[in-house]
Amino acid sequence: MIPVVYSNLCPVCGGDLESKEIEECVCFRKKKKLCHYPEDFLLEEFIEFFRKCVGEPRAIQKMWAKRILRRESFAATAPTGVGKTSFGLAMSLFLALRGKRCYIVFPTSLLVIQAAETVKSMWRRLVFRLMKSSSATITADSRKVRRKTSCRT
Ligand SMILES: [Zn+2]
Repeated sequence: MIPVVYSNLCPVCGGDLESKEIEECVCFRKKKKLCHYPEDFLLEEFIEFFRKCVGEPRAIQKMWAKRILRRESFAATAPTGVGKTSFGLAMSLFLALRGKRCYIVFPTSLLVIQAAETVKSMWRRLVFRLMKSSSATITADSRKVRRKTSCRT
């Protein structure tokens, strides 16, 4: 590829933008990513959230999450069992905790009931993990307190 320099068009530093920087998606002067979406911080949060309430997300679920968080409109098509519903429910729970509303349409009332039960179990898993991690912190802190008090006496 012929090296190209775009004068003063770097979106990060405002200086020259070289083709090598575009290929690597990094501003060499400021050492920052060029293709940064602010929503990508939320993506990491969502992936961690998904791990806590569902499990390890599949690559396609991560891609759907990225697209939703970037506010893209798209149709998630995948065979049965890939995780469209669990993804949609986890994403709706994630967004609901951030004050957003989601609408998920199901063809039957039985599926709505099942989805509601799934969301409740996701919520329970999330709360259980939060309680578990906070009790571990409390236990660690109480040990420190005990050690400090035993040193004084
Ligand atoms: Zn730059």
